[in-house]
Amino acid sequence: MAAHSKHIYEKVALIGIGLIGSSISHAARRAGIVGTITGSARTPATLETAKRLKLVDAAYPTAAEAARDADLVILCVPVGACGSVAEEIAPVLKPGAVVTDVGSVKGCIVRDCGPYIPSGVHFIPGHPIAGTEHSGPESGFAELFDNRWCILTPPDGTVPSEVAKLKSFWQALGSNVEVMPADHHDLVLAITSHVPHLIAYNIVNTAAHLERVTDSEVIKFSAGGFRDFTRIAASDPTMWRDVFLNNKEAVLEMLGRFTEDLIHLQRAIRFGEGETLFKMFTDARAIRRGIIQAGQDTAAPNFGRDGKPGKG
Ligand code: NAP
Repeated sequence: MAAHSKHIYEKVALIGIGLIGSSISHAARRAGIVGTITGSARTPATLETAKRLKLVDAAYPTAAEAARDADLVILCVPVGACGSVAEEIAPVLKPGAVVTDVGSVKGCIVRDCGPYIPSGVHFIPGHPIAGTEHSGPESGFAELFDNRWCILTPPDGTVPSEVAKLKSFWQALGSNVEVMPADHHDLVLAITSHVPHLIAYNIVNTAAHLERVTDSEVIKFSAGGFRDFTRIAASDPTMWRDVFLNNKEAVLEMLGRFTEDLIHLQRAIRFGEGETLFKMFTDARAIRRGIIQAGQDTAAPNFGRDGKPGKG
């Protein structure tokens, strides 16, 4: 069959068809930029759902079957699973193919997948900064990446035209694209995504262990702020376990700084230093305004409660 002129990649393989994999399928179909989409997942239930929702043209129980002959292979599995998937697909990758991923940590992808990528295959790790707290093939939607950033972290020596092509693919999915080194990505995401998730998990656990406040009170009065943390803390435990195991250094660095600032606040409260508190809260408010001005959120008061893009 002749290649369609609008297609950026003719055959795309999605290894893992959860929130991100299914959203890529929806957005790629919306843009009309791919020919066929193959997919693989671990469980028959996910494969069945992917077929039923027409997320893929062919669904396979192994990554190697899905990746065979693909022009673009996208690893959409938890970061801790990417290395073994790369090892599995290496023998079937066709010369000139591009292998990328969507993992929330990038240094570990270079470390775990890089050694398996055959010469003649282009390896360009990536991370769309877009997500929700929902998982699985039914949770995806075409608009997930619209006006969100996607970061590509090509290792030194990657062919520039292949980076440009993958960039155009993500732009067609709706994203803005930035290129940066993997270690810088991991540092930035530690403070913008990983530490906030850790704080959310922790505060929800702290509330769960309180003895003098009942569970029903925590739920009843949650609109005081707690509710927003529970949304973040509802994120997939496997994904987030892998993020913290694989971005250890950057997270510990940012957590150290966070702890110092928290102690500063604690001291200000203890000694009644209202001016310190007021200044810190005023500075924080300006950051929120900056995010709205940059188009990364709306000023709508229901932010975060409609399941729409926000994190990753
Ligand atoms: P998800 O909805 O849970 O889907 C994960 C997919 O990977 C499923 O198809 C699952 O198959 C498969 N899978 C899970 N463990 C596997 C393993 N050990 N080996 C092979 N396949 C496995 O996850 P997701 O939210 O799409 O996340 C996928 C990747 O995107 C992660 O690396 C994550 O860091 C990154 N990411 C997530 C977000 C977000 O907000 N969720 C945002 C940006 C990037 P079964 O369904 O058959 O179990």
